[in-house]
Formats: sequence, structure tokens, C-alpha cells
Amino acid sequence: MLSLSDVRVAYGAIQAVQGISLDVGERELVALIGANGAGKTTTLRTISGLFRPRSGTISYEGQDLTTLPPHAIVGLGIAQAPEGRQIFGSLSVRENLDLGAIRRRDKDRAALGADLERVFDLFPVLKERLGQAGGTLSGGEQQMLAIGRALMARPRLLLLDEPSLGLAPLMVGRIFEVIARLKAEGTTILLVEQNARTALEIADRAYVLETGRITLSGPAQELAANPAVERAYLGG
Ligand code: ATP
Repeated sequence: MLSLSDVRVAYGAIQAVQGISLDVGERELVALIGANGAGKTTTLRTISGLFRPRSGTISYEGQDLTTLPPHAIVGLGIAQAPEGRQIFGSLSVRENLDLGAIRRRDKDRAALGADLERVFDLFPVLKERLGQAGGTLSGGEQQMLAIGRALMARPRLLLLDEPSLGLAPLMVGRIFEVIARLKAEGTTILLVEQNARTALEIADRAYVLETGRITLSGPAQELAANPAVERAYLGG
């Protein structure tokens, strides 16, 4: 479904992503794990069209993404829930969710209403806080809102950037339950995580990114059992 081939991204002289290739198949949950600064966020933002790669190709269902603006990429069915949540703090929960649907082609009220209900079903707390300003939600609630907003675009491919960042263990469990459920319902997911243990538990396959390069890849269970991964990322 998604394929990156030898993608390089640089910020001036800093080579953040140094020629990575990866694939995500339809209905797969693929994890991209790695330490701080490995280039995970840069990779997701490049797929979303927020950065242009210096070289390499990114294709989605056979279409080249590297020349498309971000809104066109959302229009193709790719949505990202960004790291650090980046919801609109002064807008209400409802307004944030509505913005997620802004690029949708089917704008009929029934479809939007059904998708809102789906978000409320996944995250009931959002329904209770519809009128509350996004910036006054707790960290976990903001994360839920960021994922809910991405879901309002009805993505076929969901890009999740460190959804567990800064959350209490109970909340991490809750968010990962929802990710597993989205996968079960047919959404294809590329999940960036520093919490490698939990990511490898729910992913089908994973890639390990180290200073801009993929150093290991394979079925998630195999990677979880790999001594090098265990030492570096699982605290083994
Ligand atoms: P983390 O888990 O800490 O968020 P990451 O794996 O997502 O890390 P990136 O945010 O992609 O890593 O950063 C990769 C590298 O690119 C880092 O060395 C970072 O300092 C650098 N970088 C990221 N954004 C910029 C920028 N706007 N200008 C210059 N350098 C940047």
C-alpha cells in the first residue's frame, strides 16, 4: 500500500533520514521504533508531505506522493496524528474533530455523524468534553483527540507519531487497545514509537531506525526476541 524507497531527508546540512526503504501492506500494523533523534518523526512528516525528500520515492497505491502537497495526501486517505498531539488548544473538542474532516470528499451529515459516533465510541471522554477547549484537556485526552481528529478524515492509512509519549501506564494501555481495535477494523497503520515493547506486542512487522538508517526489520515477534533489540530498546 505504502512504499518508501531509498528516501533521504535533510535539514540543511543535517541528514536526518539517510536512505530508508520500507513497505506497509494493506491492513498491516507496522511499527517504526528507534531512539530519540533517529529520524522517526521526519519519516512520518515526509510521508504526509510536510517535508520534501532530497531523493528517493514514496508511493501510495502506486501513486507518487513526493510531489503532492499535504492536503492532497490527506485527500488520498492518509492521515497523521502528530507527536506532541498538536491539537488546536483554543478550539473546542468538537471544532478540532470537525477540522479533521475538512478534506473529506463525502461531506454529507450522516457520514460525518456516523464517524463522530465512532470516535466517541473509541474515546467516550471526548463526547463528555465536546465544548471544552482542546488546550485544557489532559495529556491523554489530547492524545485521544489527536487520534480522533485523524480518524475524522476517514483514513485508510493512519500515521501515528508516538501516541504513548508522556502518558501514564494506564492511559498507554487504553491508547494501544484502541490502536489494536482500529487495525482489527481494517485500518492500515504505521506506528512510530519509543515504547518499543508495547509497539512490538501489537505490530505485525517492525523496522528499527538508528541515526537515519534502518538497521533491522522483520516480524514484530522476531524482533522482540532479538537480543540486540532487547538490549537497546527493551531494557533487557
Ligand atoms: P524523537 O523520538 O526524539 O522525536 P525522532 O526519531 O522522531 O526523535 P526526528 O524528530 O525525525 O527524530 O529528528 C531526526 C534528526 O533531525 C534529529 O537529529 C533532529 O535534531 C533533526 N531535526 C529534526 N527537525 C529539524 C529541523 N526542523 N531542523 C534541523 N534539524 C532537525
